Amino acid sequence: MAKKYVYNFGGGKADGNESMKNLLGGKGANLAEMAGNKDLKLPVPPGFTITTEVCIYYYQNKKKYPAALKKEVELALIKVEKLMGKKFGDPNNPLLVSVRSGARRSMPGMMETVLNVGLTEKTIPGLVKHSGGNERFVYDAYRRLIMMYSDVVMEKAGGIEPKDDMGIRKQLERIMDEAKRAKGYKTDTDLTAKDLKELCAKFKIKIKEVLGKEFPDEPMQQLWGGIGAVFSSWNGKRAVSYRRIEAIPDEWGTAVNVQTMVFGNMGNDSATGVAFTRNPGNGEDEFYGEYLINAQGEDVVAGIRTPAPINTYSTSEHNKEMLTLEKGMPKIYKELYDIQNRLEKHYRDMQDIEFTIEKGRLFMLQCRVGKRNGPAAVRMAMDMLKDKFISPQEAVMRVTPAQLDELLHPIIDPKIELTHKPLAKGLPAGPGGACGQIVFSSHEAVTWAKEEKKVILVREETNPEDVEGMRAAQAILTARGGMTSHAALVARGWGKCCVVGCGALHVDNAKKELHIDGKVLKEGDWITLNGTKGAVYEGRLPMMDATEEDTLLNSFLKICGKIKRLGIRTNADTPEDAAKARFFGAEGIGLFRTEHMFYGKGADEPLFLLRKMIVSKTVEERKRALEELFPYVKKDIKGTLEAMDGFPVVIRLLDPPLHEFVPREEAKLQQLAKDLNISMKELADRAEALHESNPMMGHRGVRLGVTYPEVSAMQIRAIFEAAAELLKEGKKPYPEIMVPVVCDVKELNDQMAIYKKVYEETVKKYGIKNIKCMFGTMIEIPRAALVADQLATVAEFFSFGTNDMTQMGFGFSRDDIGGFLGDYINKGILPEDPFQSIDQVGIGELIKIGIERGRKARKGLEVGICGEHGGEPRSVEFCHRVGMDYVSCSPFRVPIAKLAAAQAVLKEKAAKKK
Ligand code: ADP
Ligand code: MG
Ligand code: MG
Repeated sequence: MAKKYVYNFGGGKADGNESMKNLLGGKGANLAEMAGNKDLKLPVPPGFTITTEVCIYYYQNKKKYPAALKKEVELALIKVEKLMGKKFGDPNNPLLVSVRSGARRSMPGMMETVLNVGLTEKTIPGLVKHSGGNERFVYDAYRRLIMMYSDVVMEKAGGIEPKDDMGIRKQLERIMDEAKRAKGYKTDTDLTAKDLKELCAKFKIKIKEVLGKEFPDEPMQQLWGGIGAVFSSWNGKRAVSYRRIEAIPDEWGTAVNVQTMVFGNMGNDSATGVAFTRNPGNGEDEFYGEYLINAQGEDVVAGIRTPAPINTYSTSEHNKEMLTLEKGMPKIYKELYDIQNRLEKHYRDMQDIEFTIEKGRLFMLQCRVGKRNGPAAVRMAMDMLKDKFISPQEAVMRVTPAQLDELLHPIIDPKIELTHKPLAKGLPAGPGGACGQIVFSSHEAVTWAKEEKKVILVREETNPEDVEGMRAAQAILTARGGMTSHAALVARGWGKCCVVGCGALHVDNAKKELHIDGKVLKEGDWITLNGTKGAVYEGRLPMMDATEEDTLLNSFLKICGKIKRLGIRTNADTPEDAAKARFFGAEGIGLFRTEHMFYGKGADEPLFLLRKMIVSKTVEERKRALEELFPYVKKDIKGTLEAMDGFPVVIRLLDPPLHEFVPREEAKLQQLAKDLNISMKELADRAEALHESNPMMGHRGVRLGVTYPEVSAMQIRAIFEAAAELLKEGKKPYPEIMVPVVCDVKELNDQMAIYKKVYEETVKKYGIKNIKCMFGTMIEIPRAALVADQLATVAEFFSFGTNDMTQMGFGFSRDDIGGFLGDYINKGILPEDPFQSIDQVGIGELIKIGIERGRKARKGLEVGICGEHGGEPRSVEFCHRVGMDYVSCSPFRVPIAKLAAAQAVLKEKAAKKK
């Protein structure tokens, strides 16, 4: 059978239905469902949908249509004419239609719609007659058609790119504004039939003048022009960039819906509106919406007039004086209320609906699953679950990880944010919103914060010495660095708002000035950041606490917890972080970084001792420094093991290149030289000797342990003694000791010997039978994944360090990727930043190989991930699929990982069913 390109709907019947979104687009499929489903049969103006396949064909065949299309459209139009008892182009009783876009997934406002198609000088008298002599209405419809058509079909689809403010639509609007002003009118509705008639004539002249072509006053030409314009709007600039952001494939194409016009602008018994079956802002189960009397659809969204609330529930400060639909048209309101109830029951989810009232008759123009914010999503899911409307599995799928993220951080009031233009854009490194006064140094951040001031730390880029200031600041803004730069990593770990790599910034530390595009901001000036979007605003925008009642969130997370298979651990370096993560439901620590105790609060003393150890020359010097350092390390580890009592804690042995800790400040250097009893010159020489040209691939990780076994021994002893002491106190510590930067099994053998020796010594010293523990390795060097079978003969667990693995696998420095990442993404070379979401085809393959070979050598090998990817939803799903035992992420991301892990199970089940 030949392909069917056109699907009719209307009159209680439809060729398509809701399940055909891929072919008919979301709008078309739902129009068919509303019109034709036996449980609905709603008043939908009749029409037809031209399939997405035609769009695909159109682009594959130099913008030509399949040969059969013309005939099919004509036949479909005849069906509509029969239902309506009117004819398209008939001067006596003309049928008018709208030409509407509609892709598989809704792309609100991204593509074009043309209303009132079929209205011409010839058909105007017929419409006037059939509207009861309402000339004003007819010319209002005509001027709208002319405006939309010249804009959408003649200019945009014609590929004309006018200068700012010189688009045809803008020019026509100026003519209209001028006419209103000349007559002293306030709103569009003040324009009379005569005014509108004159306007239409002026519009046509202007169009000819600007676009060099006549406005087509012929119905069929208008119809095909409209259809072509919708197809070409699929590749319009707005639509293309929206698809990039929302990851909608270019190949999908859009459908075109041609639908009988109904008129909300026929007088005061007519109206148009938009509503939601529940409140999309907070999830309350209340009908919520707005409408405009005597208006056509686009007016509501365009914000030309202030819409009125449909009921008391929907009133707000700015519309509370206005007449509600419930009061003004009670019968219609009741009908609409019943329909929205039926729609929600039918679709089993909150619906976003568009309706129009023509002379006291209600028509449904659109329905779709409504967009909602994070708090609303959780609330709706839990309410619908409670009402047994949906199953627990469905409830889990109703909240996206990004929506959950919204709940966990304060945000900029979204309504107000919409009215502000960002000063600059960077990478969204730490979620939520924050506002504060600009400071340029960590020291200032700390001092200002002590005076109860809210500050935002602005830096070229941050380094470990800024940590105190970063902690004290509300948010962090940097000019350089990528998503895994120091600032981003730290901020995310704390759940702190952060924007990095904001290239438009020029930070002048000396003058304490921030330059953005010619604008100068000084210390103390207010800015506001949206770390979820990466936007920087001038001034102080109001914040909102997006946190819903914790009880609701917690019950939601409990359901997720029951469904997921993956364990969820956290990356935590302090007992406080560990406690916070447990509160969020973490089931252990996947990464405890020993070196963290040398940064930030209380780090002075241990850092000094570490430095002493680093610049030691002889084993004796080093051992002495290590002995002094030992109690600090032990105390830190003990605190964390205790906070995670009963849960495993993966403790990584010292990882960074040592020279990172060498002090730079004169005073610190002098103190060190004095304590070591050496000259400044000698100290400088020793520090110089530590210098490496490529430290990230230099003397670090296990390599430190190989050359300085006493450094490993000290750390391992601190871990075992901490555990032994806790055991004696009746606790259940469970350390897993992890060796970083390993590439060969012999490195592990070397460290294992130390591990065994210290273990025996500790058990003996404390007189205990055994300490529950494991010895394992991080897999972060590509070679390690390949020789995983050998590593697993020694290692009892693997943890994939996907940050370094991505760095070394791609050969991209994560600190420098900002320089070219943008171009790589724009040119489609990379789909996204591989440091954010695991590159499943490449790095993912290394992970799969590592797991497979590792488990072949050791059954029951525990496998987890501790890179930043462990909290990123798609990466979590990947970790589930490849059979990891757990993911680990920063405490604030634990709930998100939990949700993603539960969704991974459900998606897998759904895929198996298919
Ligand atoms: P979008 O996808 O951008 O929402 P629509 O195709 O829904 O675009 O059209 C925008 C508005 O135009 C609708 O909200 C509706 O009010 C109005 N509209 C579209 N088709 C018709 C029609 N046949 N009769 C009356 N109004 C219509
Ligand atoms: Mg719409
Ligand atoms: Mg590493």
